[in-house]
Amino acid sequence: MIRVGIGTDIHRLEKGRPLFLGGMSLPWEKGLVGHSDGDCLIHALIDALLGAAGAGDIGRHFPDTDPAYQGIQSAILLKRIRENILAEDSVIHNVDAVITAEQPRLAAYIPAMESRLAEILEIPSSRINIKAKTNEGIGALGRGEAIAAFVVVLLQIPSCSSE
Ligand code: MG
Repeated sequence: MIRVGIGTDIHRLEKGRPLFLGGMSLPWEKGLVGHSDGDCLIHALIDALLGAAGAGDIGRHFPDTDPAYQGIQSAILLKRIRENILAEDSVIHNVDAVITAEQPRLAAYIPAMESRLAEILEIPSSRINIKAKTNEGIGALGRGEAIAAFVVVLLQIPSCSSE
């Protein structure tokens, strides 16, 4: 059975914090605020995978009230979802993502980000597509106060409880 999943996330930017996005550390004067490392692209990706799998959301699996996830790398959370929640013989056909960030400009990092996520998910990087755009100066995203991510995935799973 082929199933689609959607995920979105947004985190505030704060001066003096490291910026983690797409499982990578990016050079920038601000970083994303969060209980974990604040990687909104990975959080949206996790929610999209969980949605496709019919397995709830990121907060159910990794509650932000749990000190175990304080400052944890989101890449580790994504790996756990792939290994422990998705059925072993499930196939991630493709991931399509949009990052909305006024700054920094992300185009130069996109190929490395796609490779990094592909490595974590153990799929070819050709199955991952990431697009970066600005918010045209509009609202909090446009003022560079936050970065948002939107992800859809297509997942093939061996069986489904709704069958
Ligand atoms: Mg988040």
